[in-house]
Amino acid sequence: MQNYLFFGIIIYMSKDIKIVLTGDRPTGKLHLGHFVGSIQNRIKLQNEADKSYYMIADIQGLTDNASNPQKIRDNVIEVALDNLACGLDPKKTTMFIQSEVPEIAELTVIFLNLVTLARLKRNPTVKDEMKQKGFGEDVPAGFLCYPISQAADILFTKANLIPVGEDQLPVIEQANEIVDSFNRYYGDVFNHIKHLTSNTPRLIGTDGSAKMGKSLNNAIYLSDSLEEISKKVMNMYTDPGHIHVEDPGKIEGNVVFSYLDIFDSNRAEVDELKKQYRKGGLGDVVIKKRLISVLENTIGPIRAKREELSKDKNAIMKILEKGTNEAREKAKETMIEVREALKINYF
Ligand code: ATP
Ligand code: MG
Repeated sequence: MQNYLFFGIIIYMSKDIKIVLTGDRPTGKLHLGHFVGSIQNRIKLQNEADKSYYMIADIQGLTDNASNPQKIRDNVIEVALDNLACGLDPKKTTMFIQSEVPEIAELTVIFLNLVTLARLKRNPTVKDEMKQKGFGEDVPAGFLCYPISQAADILFTKANLIPVGEDQLPVIEQANEIVDSFNRYYGDVFNHIKHLTSNTPRLIGTDGSAKMGKSLNNAIYLSDSLEEISKKVMNMYTDPGHIHVEDPGKIEGNVVFSYLDIFDSNRAEVDELKKQYRKGGLGDVVIKKRLISVLENTIGPIRAKREELSKDKNAIMKILEKGTNEAREKAKETMIEVREALKINYF
């Protein structure tokens, strides 16, 4: 009997505690890339994890929108609505606003000492984004440092599992380096974090570019109307060499087929369409109409739920307020540990 109890305790203690954190920048409404890249995993994990957090990264949004705070403010409610409409459940996930947890800023300042300028400039995601935004050497310091503040966002909750799109992997890697440096100097306070990517870690844009992004003007939004979806799909690239219906067409680099591969659950029919398209005799409009209907099947129910939820924006703000209060309690707890570790706990 005693032995069973002993082993029971060991098993309980060694069970991996799963704490999940994810988030979005309130820089615009959310799109299909978010849905397949991260949101679907968020929804699944909120039922499996021991604790689940969702953060609206308004301070991070400001790092490249300093002159436009209204845009960030307006989109806080939009990204909350998008997540709730997809099935994020505030009873299972603590939803909070980054700027209302000032301990994150405090932790960021401490982490700043653990990262060099050379390392910041080497982060491939930041490098890509700086190029896209045309920053060059005039990059706002806050933007260059966002991987550091993102480490603080994650670590104050002691989260260890982060569902993200592929573009965020270098940022997670940098967060783990911060964990190593912190623990080496100040003792074991933080644990390594793991990323979780989906089957579609990077959804391409409607223009065929490497990533659908809300700041890139190439997105189909979860709130788009059927007319908007239709217009965007009708404008998608197929194969520029496929001029007449009877011409053989290419599948590789064909944006419409890339999307059908991801969103159309009828694999057999998509394979048959590809065969026909390659041979010639299948028009672009046929495959585009199919894609419109497939995307409407995914987005339609989300749009409807979103419209219903958006009738009571006060209720959404109440959810965020409650979640933020809870996150703040956790942040205070973590900061007591951090201050102790750094010997800056004077009074
Ligand atoms: P911005 O252009 O303002 O950075 P964004 O579209 O990149 O906006 P974020 O709020 O930065 O969106 O990203 C939120 C989450 O969604 C991250 O985990 C990110 O990796 C994921 N994500 C964003 N775009 C895509 C995409 N096209 N495919 C897969 N995942 C994506
Ligand atoms: Mg982004």
